[in-house]
Amino acid sequence: MPQYADIAIIGAGAAGLAAAIFAAESNPSLQISLLDGAKSVGAKILVSGGGRCNVTNQKVTASDYHGSRKIIDRILRRFTEDDTLRWFDALGVPLQTEPTGKLFPVSNKARTVLNALIDRCQKLSITLLTQHRVQSITYQEPTFVIQHAHGILQAGTVIVAAGGRSLPKTGSDGLGWDLVQQLGHTVTPTCPALVPLLLDASFFHTELSGISHEVTLITRVNERVVDRRTGSLLWTHFGISGPVAMDASRFWVLAHEQGHHVQLHLNSVPQSTHQDVENWLMQASTLPGRQTIQALLVERLPSRVAIQLAKFLNPNLGLTPVNLLQKHTRNALTHALTNLPLPVTNSRGWNFSEVTAGGIPLEEINPSSMESKKIPRLYLIGEMLDCDGRIGGFNFQWAWSTGYLAGYHASRAYKDKNTQETNTHE
Ligand SMILES: Cc1cc2nc3c(=O)[nH]c(=O)nc-3n(C[C@H](O)[C@H](O)[C@H](O)COP(=O)(O)OP(=O)(O)OC[C@H]3O[C@@H](n4cnc5c(N)ncnc54)[C@H](O)[C@@H]3O)c2cc1C
Repeated sequence: MPQYADIAIIGAGAAGLAAAIFAAESNPSLQISLLDGAKSVGAKILVSGGGRCNVTNQKVTASDYHGSRKIIDRILRRFTEDDTLRWFDALGVPLQTEPTGKLFPVSNKARTVLNALIDRCQKLSITLLTQHRVQSITYQEPTFVIQHAHGILQAGTVIVAAGGRSLPKTGSDGLGWDLVQQLGHTVTPTCPALVPLLLDASFFHTELSGISHEVTLITRVNERVVDRRTGSLLWTHFGISGPVAMDASRFWVLAHEQGHHVQLHLNSVPQSTHQDVENWLMQASTLPGRQTIQALLVERLPSRVAIQLAKFLNPNLGLTPVNLLQKHTRNALTHALTNLPLPVTNSRGWNFSEVTAGGIPLEEINPSSMESKKIPRLYLIGEMLDCDGRIGGFNFQWAWSTGYLAGYHASRAYKDKNTQETNTHE
């Protein structure tokens, strides 16, 4: 077991593996140790993208993330989605773009991604220490003392890539924040993001379990709209999931945890306003024949959703002919179609969340290198930072970009130091 490393990286997830590879490639003579508490690394990579690993997106901008966008933009520009594509190609993992813009390995297997990263680490002689959970890091100038499950490792430079708290059974359980707080960093309030939401049992979601359709979700905090997004919603036995619900969840969860009044509203006929729907219902009522409300709704909604929505308002509504609709019922139906309050009781929590909202403020790091502004030669990367992306490969891109910057600069700092020393001796 090594006693010293030039660069010690805490956490061998996506960000830590990337940092290790880029550090070793920039300066192959360095001793690099990658410590992880888990028995086998990369668990999150393996479960990602339904086991296919959505590595990045064809277009990545700071607006795909929540956090300090100016800083996020500076970081992403230094290692872009195109760099990711080329890098994986060089690692022997060609990527392909799907119509949604998401990039997956051609193999369609997350395992290919993880194996390529681990193989590259081995080729570069990076020491991978699994079951080495780090309990504390202290800075005793000029070295760091890392206390881990099997003893102590001293290091000239430390990169912390310990993740957030999403899916804690993979090894990222929030301890990383304690480690950096001990070193003087702060952590903003954190909560699960990209997480399914639970609905009150009295609602009709259980009847719709398994159905997905295009909707708009609107989040209001203290009556003010903070988020509005359109996409695919999946009804489940517990509530709602699918990309649009997952992306919206951070707003509901954050506001809820901060004690604000938060409401989620559903528009089941996306792109249509209250007025559009009212016009549609009025027009339908003038048509010949006795079309029922249910039959009319089915023109725009999956039939089970149409039936349950009408039933929710009134058990007899579905079979009522459209032309017999009274004004107050038409208003209630229009409202239910465009602005239905969803009785969210909570999120499914950390065990089902894909990412963490909140973390170490980006203002505490130097965005051109990911070096801490508080302690020299300490670098902070990946999900533990206060930045979370939407669904679509953006969170891995954040891991690759921040990993690249920290790995490259941590290693270059040694090169620069060696060059200076050589020059002094001449
Ligand atoms: C189910 C699921 C699916 C996802 N799908 C996608 C997707 O398809 N595309 C996408 O872009 N994003 C996806 N994500 C998000 C993405 O996986 C994460 O954002 C990304 O893996 C974060 O990388 P990281 O290296 O910062 O942290 P992590 O991957 O969490 O790695 C942190 C590592 O640090 C280790 N560690 C923690 N504390 C310590 C300690 N004290 N000592 C030693 N080691 C420690 C952990 O064991 C872990 O290995 C998904 C997430 C989940 C949960």
